[in-house]
Amino acid sequence: MLYAVISDIHSNLEALTASLSEIDRIKADRIVCLGDIVGYNPNPNECIELLRERNIQCVMGNHDSRVAGLEDAADFNLLAARSIEWTRGVLTPENREFLAALPRSRFIDGRFLAIHGGVNDTDQYIFGARDALRNFNLMRELKKQTRVCFYGHTHVHAAFVEKDGEAHLLEENELKLEKGFRYLLNPGAIGQPRDRDPRASFALYDTDASLVSFRRLDYDIQRTAASIVEAGLPERLAERLKLGW
Ligand code: ZN
Repeated sequence: MLYAVISDIHSNLEALTASLSEIDRIKADRIVCLGDIVGYNPNPNECIELLRERNIQCVMGNHDSRVAGLEDAADFNLLAARSIEWTRGVLTPENREFLAALPRSRFIDGRFLAIHGGVNDTDQYIFGARDALRNFNLMRELKKQTRVCFYGHTHVHAAFVEKDGEAHLLEENELKLEKGFRYLLNPGAIGQPRDRDPRASFALYDTDASLVSFRRLDYDIQRTAASIVEAGLPERLAERLKLGW
């Protein structure tokens, strides 16, 4: 089975449609989304509806839960909080319900775990080896002895392997997953990458060959940036998109 794993779409319709066409061209069998469908950019309804139409399995992100009203955005920075408020104002009731009903984690076809932030905390970031090790330990406690977990939230693609009780960051863009080890894999962000590369980022996971690859894709950033300004969202959100942070 070939899975395409996407995350952090953040209402960026141009990045999402370009990525879905590329994923269709590659002929992935299934698409999994790791949350933060909304926030920051100007097309929350269109993005949610695309995912719903295509029956893409999603988990809830920290922006999704704030926009759905499950938590308040008091702990968000100003830019993020303003986009949450804006999104709440334009979201249809059906789409709000869709976000509110998303699970915090999903075990996909018995093959891998899909989460947004950390294994048991949507808001937690996995940045370095220490964060990864803590989450490897949580994976071990799960009933299904999860070996592979995809997470998002940082907007930076990454891969960690657990070996000899330690977490190691892997630098390759193509990985062969070895039997007997645990992996934490982040596909990066579709709608707001933060590694100074503005292209959309996603991952492919071929479960038969145990291969994971990270992909980048150009899309019409100028158009998204113009829509951000037209929508009355903060201009800094358009600037950061062009710079990839
Ligand atoms: Zn995010």
